Amino acid sequence: MEKEFVVIGLGRFGGSIVRELNALGVDVMAIDNDEARVNEYADIATHAVIADTTDEAVLKSLGIRNFDHVIVAIGDNIQASILTTLILKDLGVKTVTTKAQNDYHAKVLNKIGADTVVHPERDMGRRIAHNLASASVLDYLELSDQYSIVEIRAGETLQGNTILDLDVRANYGLNIIAVKRGKEILVSPDPYEVIERGDILIVIGHDNDLNRFEKKIA
Ligand code: ADP
Repeated sequence: MEKEFVVIGLGRFGGSIVRELNALGVDVMAIDNDEARVNEYADIATHAVIADTTDEAVLKSLGIRNFDHVIVAIGDNIQASILTTLILKDLGVKTVTTKAQNDYHAKVLNKIGADTVVHPERDMGRRIAHNLASASVLDYLELSDQYSIVEIRAGETLQGNTILDLDVRANYGLNIIAVKRGKEILVSPDPYEVIERGDILIVIGHDNDLNRFEKKIA
């Protein structure tokens, strides 16, 4: 069965989700209580609806519980975001993803049953900081508050070494899970694989260990 998505709140974050889903050919209903915002998405979303989603009767009349996944992208109005999430879960929506403005907001969202809580500004800030602190870090994905995956571009310090030479497992407690080389991707690379300049190492581990490794090769 095809997935059915709803995005509530058409600010920069919600709006970009709607645009991207549309570009991917996925049906999406877009909701906002601001008429101008809804008009902006009239030709992009499958349906664009003006509605205040803190009103349970309105959500019911939209048949919201028939959708697989609702994304709550209400920004500054934390009260509206919490109330909307609560009503969606009460109405039986299977999966609700809500954007949190801060840690307190996130705590409440988790408590009331949001399935996923996202922090786009915080996460993007962290990714950019890692990229700034070490020019070789290309990307950064947080797995939990302690563990992450980073993409590191091999420069002078790493080239010519085998994975065994680096022994990041013993030296840093890290694991190289894959190496991207041009269009090729070596998953679970052989320990005798010689690292070439420009290879991208995908490394998983504890944030403290990743930081030590990033500093070493910066
Ligand atoms: P961003 O930081 O992603 O740009 P904004 O705070 O600008 O987010 O956008 C949030 C959107 O959510 C706004 O377009 C606003 O009109 C909408 N919104 C706020 N409260 C409600 C509500 N109760 N029902 C529906 N949409 C809402």
